[in-house]
Amino acid sequence: MRNPANLVGGVGSGQPISLLESVNIHFSYENGYKVFENINISVGQDKFVGIVGPSGIGKSTLLRIMGGFLAPDSGATYLMGKKITKPTPKVVFVHQSIITFPWMTALENVMLSPRSMKVPQSEAEIVAMKALEDVGLQGFEELYPKEMSGGMRQRVAIARALAANPMVLLMDEPFSHLDELTAEGLRQDIYNILFRVDTPLKGVVLVSHNLTEVLELADEIYILNNIPATVVGKLVVDIPRPRSIRNPKFSEYLDFLYTKLSPPGGKKNE
Ligand code: ADP
Repeated sequence: MRNPANLVGGVGSGQPISLLESVNIHFSYENGYKVFENINISVGQDKFVGIVGPSGIGKSTLLRIMGGFLAPDSGATYLMGKKITKPTPKVVFVHQSIITFPWMTALENVMLSPRSMKVPQSEAEIVAMKALEDVGLQGFEELYPKEMSGGMRQRVAIARALAANPMVLLMDEPFSHLDELTAEGLRQDIYNILFRVDTPLKGVVLVSHNLTEVLELADEIYILNNIPATVVGKLVVDIPRPRSIRNPKFSEYLDFLYTKLSPPGGKKNE
């Protein structure tokens, strides 16, 4: 059997340990639908990784496997070289739908996260205030969700994730329900918000069907296609930040992604 320490780098392997790595993932749902065949994804330290693929290919499923919410049939996920077998507060989700509780203020919503980890009330409040400040919502702590815009509510959701002090953030289509202008504003802020030096956050995985969005944000992009899904390509995005879609490389990369993504090919999963 191969030594997991070698698979994920580390002492003796000659390679740096990945922050989060899913290795040789095979996965089928209980109804027999085979979603993945040998997926390998590695999130390096301080990396923003994008995952793209056609709708229904398995992007959300993969995130759940990477977060320890779903066990693969074979293969495993490692956080800093340590196998993940269940969800951990070090790897936190930001979901597609914004789940803010309408009867709670922004502050109370964000405090849920440290409170769920048994952090005492007064300390949880300090952590939540800081997280709200990090996402640009200082001064809006007492607002209720109905008094906020969609973008503000999504910032609250991100603040709640950050208040758990995660090492890795897994984001599943976090901008898809926002209007384009709001989404663009949040995208422009998000990289700086997430990689501030004073957070323990070391990596982000973003799943999105919006190729422009992923190109705007990601350092590396994994492309999923085929049925069952495999990684059909990986793109290292070499465009300085802040990125402009007017950079000629942007359209080059976009072409590459489209080529890899269409037409969806592969074996039929019958
Ligand atoms: P994506 O995020 O790329 O749109 P998903 O990960 O949501 O794809 O789904 C991948 C495939 O698995 C889809 O074909 C979907 O219908 C199927 N699927 C998702 N959840 C389940 C489930 N609980 N049971 C059976 N099939 C599922």
